[in-house]
Order: sequence, then C-alpha cells, then structure tokens
Amino acid sequence: MSEIKYAGKCFCGAVEITVTGEPAAAGFCHCGSCRLWSAGPVNAFTLWAPSAVKVTKGADQVGVFNKSQLSSRKFCKSCGGHLFTEHPPWNLIDVYAAVIPTLRFEPKLHVNYQDTVLPMKDGKPKFRDIPKEMGGSGELIAE
Ligand SMILES: [Zn+2]
Ligand SMILES: [Zn+2]
Repeated sequence: MSEIKYAGKCFCGAVEITVTGEPAAAGFCHCGSCRLWSAGPVNAFTLWAPSAVKVTKGADQVGVFNKSQLSSRKFCKSCGGHLFTEHPPWNLIDVYAAVIPTLRFEPKLHVNYQDTVLPMKDGKPKFRDIPKEMGGSGELIAE
C-alpha cells in the first residue's frame, strides 16, 4: 500500500516539498514566537516524523534560523516564504498547514493558549502551554 503524498511549495515556488502519510498531530499554536515568525495571529501546525518530510526542489534555497535549540526554522532564501520548523528534541517537524494545501487540515488541539490574541471557540482542547508528553504542564484552560 503506497501512502498518500502531499505537495507543498514556498511563496515563489523555488522550493518544493512533499510530506507522506498522515501527520502525528495537527492544531493551532498561539505562542508569541509563532506569531512573530509567521506574522499571523496563530500558527496552524501539522507535525510529522522527519522521514515523512522531503525537500524535492530548491534545497540550496532553503535558509535556516535558530532562535532556540527547540526550533530550526526553514524558509526560502529567494522569497522569504516559510516552509517548516524542525523540532529536534521532539523528533518532529512542523509543516505549516498553509504550505501543504492539499492535506485536509483537521485541528485537534490548541497549544500555548495562554498567549492567544485570537480566541477560537471551537470546542477543541486548549492547552495552557503544551501537552505533558512534550514537556509542558498539560494543563487545560477554558475557552
Ligand atoms: Zn520561495
Ligand atoms: Zn508556537
């Protein structure tokens, strides 16, 4: 059985990526870092095993910015468009949902909701920071 592949690209198209299979998790991150990096109020994330994510074109155009050891942020050097963020301590890669439009985005949770500037009343769990298994408090807060 071959797994489904989803194609994505940066803003200018110089860099192309694929992700294969299904994401390990998907949701919204409301943290200040995501806000400043994305220039949007929330980050719609999909998390993948590193082996599921491939740069298929323009690998030499991929830039990287590390603000902390948790996040290695990848972007296109030509257009500045964002691609994905590697999270080495979790062994997961966040491929921004908007970069892979053919994947049906099914958010399951909200993280870093204590920092929200865009409250979203969708009935999904809202973690104050992040789930326990990822090193957070695991604490939930009301909508
Ligand atoms: Zn580009
Ligand atoms: Zn975030």
